[in-house]
Amino acid sequence: MAITRFAPSPTGYLHIGGLRTALYSYLWAKKTNGEFKLRIEDTDTARNNDDAVKAILEAFNWVGMPSDCTIEYQSKRLDIYKKYIDQLLDEGKAYKCYMSKEELDAKRVKQEALKQTPRYDETWRPQENKELPPIPEDIEPVIRIKAPKSGTIEFQDGIKGSMSFTADQVDDFVIARSNGIPTYNFVVAIDDALMGITDVLRGDDHLSNTPKQIVIYNALGFELPKFYHIPMINNPSGKKLSKRDGAMDVMQYKKDGYLPEALLNFLVRLGWSHGDQEIFSMEEMLDLFDPNDINKSASAYNTEKLNWLNAHYIKESSFNRLVNLLKNDFDLDIENIPNNEFLLDISKDRASTLVQLKDAIKKIIDTPFEYEKKGTKKFIKDNTIETLQNYIKLLEENKNNLTSVESIENITKPFIQDNGLKFPQLFQPIRISLTGGTQAPSVYDIIFILGVDETINRINKAIEQDFNR
Ligand code: GLU
Repeated sequence: MAITRFAPSPTGYLHIGGLRTALYSYLWAKKTNGEFKLRIEDTDTARNNDDAVKAILEAFNWVGMPSDCTIEYQSKRLDIYKKYIDQLLDEGKAYKCYMSKEELDAKRVKQEALKQTPRYDETWRPQENKELPPIPEDIEPVIRIKAPKSGTIEFQDGIKGSMSFTADQVDDFVIARSNGIPTYNFVVAIDDALMGITDVLRGDDHLSNTPKQIVIYNALGFELPKFYHIPMINNPSGKKLSKRDGAMDVMQYKKDGYLPEALLNFLVRLGWSHGDQEIFSMEEMLDLFDPNDINKSASAYNTEKLNWLNAHYIKESSFNRLVNLLKNDFDLDIENIPNNEFLLDISKDRASTLVQLKDAIKKIIDTPFEYEKKGTKKFIKDNTIETLQNYIKLLEENKNNLTSVESIENITKPFIQDNGLKFPQLFQPIRISLTGGTQAPSVYDIIFILGVDETINRINKAIEQDFNR
């Protein structure tokens, strides 16, 4: 049974890399009948904002991965952290450091000039027979942890394998600032331990934090969780994912017309696979996912794959769901449009996103107010108007019998033959009349959806305006 967590810092929106980490954590918890917990890491008051918290929670709500506990906010847990800081001070495992910022900076510059990794020089670390400097009056101390001075800090990463850091890679780092606010690595370790987290899944950009957190676990006698450091998502050329590549707010995907299950399916495959299977329902993800199988190397974002998956899930979606989504999120109400089920069905085939679905529908239901120049130039010839007028007559004569797509096809095909036309000579002028362009679904389908009267109206209107030629 795995207790996992996702612990965003609310400095901005939820980014898709974060959502993938959350998804992996969620799947692993649910698969093992454990719990998935959300924690908001908001101790950095200068960089946090409430809107970001709202945006993050909204994103979780949209994708349907609720926290199994009341959401923890680090800003409300300061008393808890203080208790552990006092405990470490009492036990001599942490100490007060009065080094001024200026002195610290000067030492760092020196170390950097000598090409050394900057580290605290332990001036204030108590030691047997060591005399500490006199305590300056004007300096509020920071609290530093006593990190081990020799040996290695080791752990077994579920993705990266055996990890080992030598003691000199971790200095006596600050666990509480001079204003009393505890630091990031300190609170993460405390929270993970107190929240009973058994499996920590996070981006491998946090790998260098892990030995520091292990120092805290050890100092407090907490049991170590299992760590999984997940390689990053890169852009298709192997560089850091930028906004342009898709590193955007999860909620932007909603606005762009992606379905949450498509996004989750896309994310689960970015860094994990099961044979060459691409489509995973939530049940299948839960059945098959194992964080120990996460890829060791970075993955590449691929918009075509996301669009392909989204098209798949749009096709799978019920009529009612799509009608509601279009109405609530995209301001398109097709509830009372005749033949709306058929309209939606044929439009689905032309859409990878709900935005495209809306466009495809509107292309049919909206009367065109402009006719595509390139199409009219190519397909509207001297005799086209007469052909269209004859076709209108044919529609009128058969009006009462045109109750299906087939019935429209059955009168149109002989008309084309009898008039010695090629298909595009009739279809393209009709498409242009009905939708304004040449890129539209089958003419029979559009005529069926619009009905004979509206079809005739639109063709007449195009003729009247001479296709804006
Ligand atoms: N708050 C950290 C972040 O947003 C995550 C910390 C963790 O997962 O350990 O990157």
